[in-house]
Amino acid sequence: MKKRSEIQDKYKWSFEDYFKNDDDWNKNFEQFSNEIYVISDFYGKLSEKKQILSCFRLIEKISIKAEALYIYANCLSNLDISNPKYQVYLSKIEQKLTEKNEISSFIEPQLSVLDDKFLDEMLKDKEFSDFTKILRDVKKSKKHTLSEEIEKLLSATGSFSSNFSSIFSNFEDGDLKYNLVKNSKGKDMKMSSSLAMIYLQSPDDTLRENAYKELQQAHGRFNNFLTSNYLGSVRKDAFYAKARKFNSSLESALFYEEVGENVYNNLVKNVEENLHLNQKYFEIKKRIYGLKQFKLSDLFFCPLKLKSKYSYDNAINIVCSALAILGDDYVDYIKFMSEKRMIDVFPTENKASGAYETMATKKTPRVLLNFVGTFNDLSTLAHELGHAMHSVYSNKHQSAVNSGYTIFLAEIASTVNEILLNDYMLKNAKNSDEKIYFINQFLSECYSTIFRQTMFANFEEIIHSKIEKNEDISTEIVNSIYFDLVKKYFGKKVKIFDEVKYEWSRIPHFYNEFYVYKYATGLISAINIVKNLMSGKISVQNYKKFLSSGCTDVPTELLKIVDVNFDTEEPFKTAFEYIEGKLKMLNSLKNKK
Ligand SMILES: [Zn+2]
Repeated sequence: MKKRSEIQDKYKWSFEDYFKNDDDWNKNFEQFSNEIYVISDFYGKLSEKKQILSCFRLIEKISIKAEALYIYANCLSNLDISNPKYQVYLSKIEQKLTEKNEISSFIEPQLSVLDDKFLDEMLKDKEFSDFTKILRDVKKSKKHTLSEEIEKLLSATGSFSSNFSSIFSNFEDGDLKYNLVKNSKGKDMKMSSSLAMIYLQSPDDTLRENAYKELQQAHGRFNNFLTSNYLGSVRKDAFYAKARKFNSSLESALFYEEVGENVYNNLVKNVEENLHLNQKYFEIKKRIYGLKQFKLSDLFFCPLKLKSKYSYDNAINIVCSALAILGDDYVDYIKFMSEKRMIDVFPTENKASGAYETMATKKTPRVLLNFVGTFNDLSTLAHELGHAMHSVYSNKHQSAVNSGYTIFLAEIASTVNEILLNDYMLKNAKNSDEKIYFINQFLSECYSTIFRQTMFANFEEIIHSKIEKNEDISTEIVNSIYFDLVKKYFGKKVKIFDEVKYEWSRIPHFYNEFYVYKYATGLISAINIVKNLMSGKISVQNYKKFLSSGCTDVPTELLKIVDVNFDTEEPFKTAFEYIEGKLKMLNSLKNKK
């Protein structure tokens, strides 16, 4: 792997618009460290408009600085994880942020005792227009905010209530050991979760099957332990929901995300009505891949490979052409990002793996890639640029507080770009093999993001509700609930292994209750937006307005700007029609072999 010094500057990050240099960072850090203590001057004064406004302005100013300090330290530490220098910067800022949160923890309880009339008055007041998200949250959460004494007690439980999740990750990353797995020649192969991902893509059917089974079985050997830990976490969620006067953990999770329960229920209902599409996909794959039977261990297997590799400069050009439909200013900003060294492109020694986008309020975005030139890398580039553009538009048009968008909306702009890229590649495909490749890419995303995540969501809901209703629950019951869901989602034609009943116990997201459904609604929203843009049902201006709206309203209201209405089942129907169309296209294509 190359050293950073071997990479041309134009492909490496510059952070000059954040801080001129490390000294500048340190100077700003000192200022920030002193400013946080001023927050406590407002203790007991938050019943008067003028004081509230000054407090909000101060918090805004401090947060803007903190974000820039944090992102500088975090990004630079990712460029060389072996160098402790920026790790030290990072822990310094993290420590101060914790302190800042402690100092400002009185603000919400003190605002929540204000009466609704007064809160409404401020919500309508132009002077407070930069802070509507805070006021909206306070007003909404009042019913569920408890007395100062109980709030204090509840926040103290945080020190041990997060243990279920850390026990799981310590087990998964440290204690869990996999047995060797045999390949088709009888050779024993080393096994780990990352090796499993390689084996599952191997042309060796025996290796795929053995790796798949061992991936589950390794967790099955700790079945009782993992079940108790997970159920402990579910009981913890139920405890907090009850303490905060919610009827269920689901209600509580959706409440803070500002999403209605009908969205969740309609997702599960509509996915279940369309499971035949999921099953049809595996049938077509079986034929195209020339398999005798489609097994769960074949999910990641794809014998079709693209011959083309992409240079980074070419990749930027392709992405810009694919996104041309979003207008000149959108594409120009991407070129600007690329020229102004906001994208750190290539893998280098000790650079963090993966890809991400990040941006401090009122600054410019940064994208980290590990680009080696595959189509996946191209897709990742388009994806991360989508995050960047969402932040850029929201930042340009909203205040610091109102510009942050919620998780429910976070994966939409990124997947819109991925779909547009896929569509562009499909239109420019040279032969049917390439067409099959691109359609399969899209449908595989639909399987893992819509069908699989909804199956997870379904599982979570059943387990949480059993715990909340004090119904019988045991390791066997949890396993069989999961196994039955897999049977239902994959149908009779896919070969299901008994070991899959342990799969639930290796999913880290279950320790973050009712999170996964947002992946599904995100992709469903993106499909709707692309369809609406292509058909002219909405204009590019509508889409930009959506991207510019931050968190100025509840997410499902903001989605109405792009004609995606989750008060109805329409978005689901539209998405499944689109998926069905792609399935028909795939089914009509014949590959060379
Ligand atoms: Zn993303």
